[in-house]
Amino acid sequence: MAVTRTFSIIKPDATRRNLTGAVTKMLEEAGLRVVASKRIQMSEDQAKKFYEVHAERPFYGELVAFMTSGPVVVQVLEGEDAVKRNRDVMGATNPADAEEGTIRKAFAESIEANSVHGSDSDENAATEIAFFFSDDEIVG
Ligand code: UDP
Ligand code: MG
Repeated sequence: MAVTRTFSIIKPDATRRNLTGAVTKMLEEAGLRVVASKRIQMSEDQAKKFYEVHAERPFYGELVAFMTSGPVVVQVLEGEDAVKRNRDVMGATNPADAEEGTIRKAFAESIEANSVHGSDSDENAATEIAFFFSDDEIVG
């Protein structure tokens, strides 16, 4: 399995509860390395564009409002099979379905305020990384 990269967001529900370190610790313990990280306030335009794929879903408006409701920490993670490794430690979208030992089981408040984002494919990871980071901000 190759070393690859994925994109992660620590969402506003988690930054609000001061869980940036706790979430990152679980990512690191899962074998992922933080090779870029910054705390930002996402603009409405950024959130709309980032979640464009969900534009027709009923939760889109609320999701954009939630993702701009407070600071987020955007990160690039590197590791063996990083996309799957991150999705595995994140847990299911709905915390009610998330397995023990996952970030969402430990911390998510609801299906919307579920503490973390993670790319779902290598292709989307590359797009999402480029959306928030320039090459010189990523140091592996
Ligand atoms: N979401 C929501 N309601 C839903 C499904 C998703 O508010 O019924 C939010 C939630 O924050 C989720 C994000 O939309 O993380 C993106 O949804 P996706 O299906 O891509 O889930 P993920 O890949 O984050 O597990
Ligand atoms: Mg998704």
